Amino acid sequence: MEERYNFKEIEKKWQKVWEDDQTFKVTEDPSMEKFYCLEMFPYPSGKLHMGHVRNYSIGDVVARFKKMDGFNVLHPMGFDSFGLPAENAAIQHGIHPSTWTWDNIHEMERQLRELGLSYDWDRECCTCSEDYYRWMQWIFIQFYKRGLAYKKENPVNWCPSCQTVLANEQVVDGVCERCKTPVTKKNLSQWYFKITDYADRLLENLDNGKLDGWPQKVRLMQKNWIGRSYGCEVDFKVKDSDEVLTVFTTRVDTIYGTTFMVLAPEYPTVLENVKGTEYEKDVLDYIDRVNHMNEIERTSTTAEKTGVFIGKYAINPFTHKEMPIYISDYVLMGYGTGAVMGVPAHDQRDFEFATKFGLEITPVVDPQDPEVDVNNLKEACAASGIMINSGEITVDAPYSGWLTETEGDTHAYLLEIRNAIGELEISFKKTERTPAGNGCLQVLGFEVKSEE
Ligand SMILES: [Zn+2]
Repeated sequence: MEERYNFKEIEKKWQKVWEDDQTFKVTEDPSMEKFYCLEMFPYPSGKLHMGHVRNYSIGDVVARFKKMDGFNVLHPMGFDSFGLPAENAAIQHGIHPSTWTWDNIHEMERQLRELGLSYDWDRECCTCSEDYYRWMQWIFIQFYKRGLAYKKENPVNWCPSCQTVLANEQVVDGVCERCKTPVTKKNLSQWYFKITDYADRLLENLDNGKLDGWPQKVRLMQKNWIGRSYGCEVDFKVKDSDEVLTVFTTRVDTIYGTTFMVLAPEYPTVLENVKGTEYEKDVLDYIDRVNHMNEIERTSTTAEKTGVFIGKYAINPFTHKEMPIYISDYVLMGYGTGAVMGVPAHDQRDFEFATKFGLEITPVVDPQDPEVDVNNLKEACAASGIMINSGEITVDAPYSGWLTETEGDTHAYLLEIRNAIGELEISFKKTERTPAGNGCLQVLGFEVKSEE
């Protein structure tokens, strides 16, 4: 016997036997217990790497073990082959994405066969093939017909030189990964799935035991992700104008402490408000700067607050005071209404903003803590306490001296005053989710368009 394992000879021999005997072919057999062994499909990059070999060897061991254990094992392979990387590679190499993708798939199939993995190749599934994505299109159309897929304008990453939309991962340090041009934001119509229609039901089922099969960690993540918060919308009139700024807040109890307003730089009326004024240039410069930032940079809690006054004032409906309106990068258009009431005494971001721009800080909740001097705050105080400086709410309302403690109380309080300032409503932290970055989307969108 040879001392060295002659893999070339031995493996070739057995792979041929498996192929001739169709050893791994699987057919439905109700008399046998079923086992489905599925590994994540590779992306057809062209060549297998050791990560693939590791992953698929482990799956193969499981599949073979179960087969030897008497199970009817379905062990398929396929390719996650429809997407942006194929488009990019095609542009780079100057070939059609389909040619590039299928060539890579065939090469990787050959390598997988050479590894002797126990796949039933008759069950292969490639997401770029028509017999697969027609079902994606079919599902999309069912969503569309039921009003669960809809179009909305939203800012996307845009490369002015490539003239294309970029996924977040294609924006590297604020520039296009292909051509290094600074990336800007552009409002484009996009498809969304209306998953918020199911948020209430999901929340309910997370608590009532119907989803106990999921680990607690996953259930908690779902809950946080839905992020239901109770609050209300408040309208603020803009001085000397018909414009009204609508704000969503979970802390309407602090409305007397609102001393300024902040809009997202993309807020639709900002440009017309500064047009031809002395504020126009600063505002345009600032918007241009923000356009080159991503969401993570914008919402960073450690970055110094920046912003620009737009030359307008809003009226606080309770104090009747004029409040300067700013734009700032920390307010995002896609979250809430794109307008925020600045309550520096009780919100840390607002506190930092007010401190930087020398704006009034009015405390309206006194935590009655000897450590906290509300009239000389060193940082925002988010603790609950007794309401102060709050006009009729402090003195007359049934919630005078009300402790901002439980969600139930907040709810009751909001119901009480909603007639005065607006409609009570439930808001979702994340209102929708876009399947951006998935190349199928464009094809699907096109299909639906042709139906309209
Ligand atoms: Zn580019």
